[in-house]
Amino acid sequence: MTTKIFTDLFKLFFPHVCRCCGNALLNSENQICTECILHLPLTNFVDIVNNPVEKKLWGRAQIEAATSLLFFSKKGNVQKILHEIKYKNNIKLAHFMGNQLGIELKKSNRFNDIDIIVPVPLHRKKQKERGYNQSEEIAKGIVNHFDKEINTTSLIKTTYTKSQTKQNRFSRWKNVSEIFSVTNTDKIENKHILLVDDVITTGATLEACAKELLKIPSVKVSIATLAYAGD
Ligand SMILES: [Zn+2]
Repeated sequence: MTTKIFTDLFKLFFPHVCRCCGNALLNSENQICTECILHLPLTNFVDIVNNPVEKKLWGRAQIEAATSLLFFSKKGNVQKILHEIKYKNNIKLAHFMGNQLGIELKKSNRFNDIDIIVPVPLHRKKQKERGYNQSEEIAKGIVNHFDKEINTTSLIKTTYTKSQTKQNRFSRWKNVSEIFSVTNTDKIENKHILLVDDVITTGATLEACAKELLKIPSVKVSIATLAYAGD
């Protein structure tokens, strides 16, 4: 009885509910219920050469292979997931979704020769405010399936930018260009880097990061994101 009261109280303060539909989770379920997982809009881009994620970066940065796990749609479950990961401190969900992305990457041999994983960095100040970097937490889920180091010291964000949502594509591009830089380059020289982010929208952030990384001798860059937002 006491245990039950404790469990009920625990659930009251830490609700064990699906992050997508809000229904109670079974003990065997984690973060998202089975029903919602089955209905997530998978892109199945992973093994497709010239898929829409790669096309988005054509002529902008030399990318070996790129993929996204899910299609983003406004007000859909993928938006809820990204919101939880980015603004609600739901690090467990970031690990869970990163794990799903890792499983997906293993379905193709295009990502077999990845040497190191680099999450898109936040500015030092922003990371201090948020307490974590969502891309780094996603990467921690990916490494369940890729026994590789996560490098958070070689690519850094050097300019603190305000929210970009109200700007058009051109000023957004101007805004993120030149604001990443590479340090500790010996750690990534001659490596095939998997660059990880939560979502690809215009591609401007990933383009800026890839361009910096590609300045290092013999570096190759591939990309994996949780979600893909079309134009
Ligand atoms: Zn659900």
